[in-house]
Amino acid sequence: MTEPLLRVKDLVKNFSLTGGILSREVGRVHAVDHVSLDIGAGETLGVVGESGCGKSTTGRCILRLIEPTAGEIWFEGKDVMSMDKTALRALRRDMQIIFQDPYASLNPRMTVGAIIAEALVIHGIGKTPEEQRDRVVELLETVGLQADHMRRYPHEFSGGQRQRIGIARALAVDPKLIVCDEPVSALDVSIQAQVINLLEDLQEKFSLTYMFIAHDLSVVEHISTRVAVMYLGRVVEIAPSRELYTNPLHPYTEALLSAVPIPDPKVKRQRIMLQGDVPNPINPPTGCHFHTRCPIRQLPLCSTERPELRETGGGHWVSCHLRG
Ligand code: SF4
Repeated sequence: MTEPLLRVKDLVKNFSLTGGILSREVGRVHAVDHVSLDIGAGETLGVVGESGCGKSTTGRCILRLIEPTAGEIWFEGKDVMSMDKTALRALRRDMQIIFQDPYASLNPRMTVGAIIAEALVIHGIGKTPEEQRDRVVELLETVGLQADHMRRYPHEFSGGQRQRIGIARALAVDPKLIVCDEPVSALDVSIQAQVINLLEDLQEKFSLTYMFIAHDLSVVEHISTRVAVMYLGRVVEIAPSRELYTNPLHPYTEALLSAVPIPDPKVKRQRIMLQGDVPNPINPPTGCHFHTRCPIRQLPLCSTERPELRETGGGHWVSCHLRG
């Protein structure tokens, strides 16, 4: 088997909670709890789960925008965890991120041209200001904007246009992998489809690989080659996209899927309503994290033993004592 472009093994990220006069550690948020996944060159891995499940933290740890607590990250066979600042800067040419809120991630005091050119300057792309300007124009046109937009400021654009600016900035350095961190969650449904179509076109044109993070399964259905479902910091199921949508194995995936609207009004799907809220990640349930809400749990097995992520065949992995 060929090496994946990205390999993540047993990734852990805990955030300390401090309190008292001495700011001692009083608790720990277990945001990412031994996550392992691979992403092959040219594919899109959709990563889905409710807010607080650790999907965005996983994406940011992969780029080392936040420091993982433990685990391994390999990109093109290179050990990302052991990289120093210089090596990381070089890596960021290959790995980029698009954020959920394009307005918050674009400096309001800089023109769009300056925002995109900044990435070129940092990575020494384009020898002269003219070359950099030409590249900015090319990037704006690539994402469906116009050359004269470079003189405007982020507040002069709609949400969808701002996301296009974020995409142009990510593309500026010719990356191989882009972590798309809920890139359409803040946009209207009609605009969501346009941005997803643009990302698909760009993937084909520039042979890009995506990790596409979203909180609902309907968004990632068409863009993903495979989908990983996360719950309370853990991956509970990974499968090729079609397989996951037609044959979900984990009860949590089934519940998420039951909320996805079906375009054909003749087809009825029964909505599975989960009891209670997502438990607090400071003190997650023992055994299977999902056991407090699982409609098919078996006690005491599910509350005492953590289910391993096991392959059931054809690249379909699930973490459940009863469905593995
Ligand atoms: Fe439900 Fe038990 Fe499977 Fe967890 S391991 S999903 S609690 S049946």
